[in-house]
Amino acid sequence: MEQTFLMVKPDGVQRGLIGEIVSRFERKGLKLVAAKFMRITPEIAERHYAEHIGKPFYPPLVAFVTSSPVFAMVWQGDNVIGLTRAMIGKTNALEAAPGTIRSDYAVHTNFNLIHGSDSAESAAREIGIFFAPHELLSYTQTMGQWI
Ligand code: ADP
Ligand code: MG
Repeated sequence: MEQTFLMVKPDGVQRGLIGEIVSRFERKGLKLVAAKFMRITPEIAERHYAEHIGKPFYPPLVAFVTSSPVFAMVWQGDNVIGLTRAMIGKTNALEAAPGTIRSDYAVHTNFNLIHGSDSAESAAREIGIFFAPHELLSYTQTMGQWI
């Protein structure tokens, strides 16, 4: 089953939107397999955003994501990478489609609330940066029948 790395960024945490954002993925029926409330170090930020090193927005981006805690998660489900990217919306919140997280709660490109992996390769890489293998929990969704 496909897995993706999602992270409520410092603006989402400070605005009290962790619950709202997690709730959307829960209600969609996706499965939470790992979560961690943590402070990102500059080293982790550099690894996570390596593809953006050298771009003009990179220094403020690293300053922003290291400024305050984030809520890091791994979610699992069919086509979960594409699905969660669609639920998150475009990078520029002003261009994000109505009903997406970024459209509903954000107005900035640099303060757009949430990160989501954009491919299977980046999902595997990002999960490995933030979580040790034993932190990904394996369990069965019993759909109403507790065993
Ligand atoms: P996404 O988060 O949608 O995958 P990118 O990977 O392109 O977007 O960029 C990573 C993050 O860097 C964005 O979510 C945003 O916080 C920031 N960012 C991207 N482009 C810009 C920009 N042109 N100006 C300011 N910040 C940007
Ligand atoms: Mg990206």
